[in-house]
Amino acid sequence: MTVHFPFQNSYSALPDSFFARVAPTPVAAPRLIKLNRPLARQLGLDPDMLETPEGAEILAGKTVPAGADPIAMAYAGHQFGNFVPQLGDGRAILLGEVIDRGGLRRDIQLKGSGPTPFSRRGDGRAALGPVLREYIVSEAMFALGIPTTRSLAAVVTGEHVIRETALPGAVLTRVASSHIRVGTFQFFAVRRDTDAIRRLADHVIARHYPDLLHAERPYHGLLAAVVARQANLVARWLLVGFIHGVMNTDNSSISGETIDYGPCAFMDAYNPSQVFSSIDEMGRYAYANQPRIALWNLTRLAECLLPLFSDDQEKAVAEAHDILGAFAETFSDAYQAGLRQKIGLFTTREGDEPLIQDLLDAMAKNQADFTLTFRKLGDAAGDPAADDARAQFMDPAAFDEWAKRWHERTALEPQSAAERQAAMHAVNPMFIPRNHRVEAVIQAAVNDDDYAPFEELVKVLAKPFEDQPDYAAYADPPLPDQRVLQTFCGT
Ligand code: AMP
Ligand code: MG
Repeated sequence: MTVHFPFQNSYSALPDSFFARVAPTPVAAPRLIKLNRPLARQLGLDPDMLETPEGAEILAGKTVPAGADPIAMAYAGHQFGNFVPQLGDGRAILLGEVIDRGGLRRDIQLKGSGPTPFSRRGDGRAALGPVLREYIVSEAMFALGIPTTRSLAAVVTGEHVIRETALPGAVLTRVASSHIRVGTFQFFAVRRDTDAIRRLADHVIARHYPDLLHAERPYHGLLAAVVARQANLVARWLLVGFIHGVMNTDNSSISGETIDYGPCAFMDAYNPSQVFSSIDEMGRYAYANQPRIALWNLTRLAECLLPLFSDDQEKAVAEAHDILGAFAETFSDAYQAGLRQKIGLFTTREGDEPLIQDLLDAMAKNQADFTLTFRKLGDAAGDPAADDARAQFMDPAAFDEWAKRWHERTALEPQSAAERQAAMHAVNPMFIPRNHRVEAVIQAAVNDDDYAPFEELVKVLAKPFEDQPDYAAYADPPLPDQRVLQTFCGT
């Protein structure tokens, strides 16, 4: 028996300028530390086979499975606002694509599997810590219902990678509906290769936006569709307190999935200007700045598509401008609707927005925990005596004043207290990947080769909306000395 991947590759059939053919570099002693069995089944793979030594060799890049067509994808990108005409997969190799059980085409990519022609000065490798972080956070995002790339497996390579110190090396197997980024379009735009832009746009439409195949203006439709997906995605991030950390255009997916988990984190206390990434000194990618940056990235995408819009540059710019103009409303509608759900409103009334904003302002002023305030507000909806939400506020009186207005507002709706609580608990998670927990899991794995904390955290985060009383401590914010202030860019 061998491990069978039902590959059906399409990206590697595009012109040679789109990628470099390159095989993963074999590693010394691959050991599987985590396989996502349900995801494997979803992809039409046999989880038992992937758990054999041969499976681990494939997931570490030591053996290339039959049917794979390994490539490193070409892309450019704006990193912290500065344009780099060639980035590309420097430490990732796309093995190929499979059609999953739902009929969706999914990329299977190894991240950390050795150098490629795009590695520049990098070693093409990944350290164990960032691999575990990406595994934990991407799977938590999936469980929260937020569009994201997935993690199929994590493997240690038996080799060290040199960062500030020598660290255990690892490979993550990442699954995405595609790895095409805003930066992929930029790669061809900077080379003025309009044919390639059209080829790429056609590929993206067929793959991600098939409704546009017969549209009158498919490329305009493409920009509008990506704008809509990104606006909705960033709204979802804000509604769970997620900070991506490195929203460069090369980390901005055309399919609208969260991609490239580096120094990302969930906030504990609500603070709109929160930044985690150690390299984001200017706060460019701060929590509340994310919608603005998403629009900035989409504007870069629009620039790439202009030659497909019209030969008349002025007309093309005006059309792009109109399409980008929809971002603000799409984002705001999604964000406000999500917030209304978070405080248990079933209807929309005048005054809802200021009511919600006043809660957020009070939370910021009182360093209230973002996740617990909303989760416990659900309890307060069911039982007015429940005061855990109140307890999140440094000055609980600030909550009382707001809660009075909130109770008056909810009383205008016919739903029962139990119905409201259930609706709130279905959107306000109890468990998020708290940064101090993620760090503790990484320390145990890296320092002690102990993966039990990782397993337990992944298990708890798979059911974020369930109370799970046995694991209640995972819902707790960090104690002052547990607080993680910065998250380092994991490469
Ligand atoms: P990221 O921080 O993952 O968005 O990566 C930005 C760019 O740097 C991409 O082109 C990566 O492929 C490249 N890169 C990051 N880490 C490495 C590494 N260890 N070796 C080679 N290239 C890397
Ligand atoms: Mg990246």
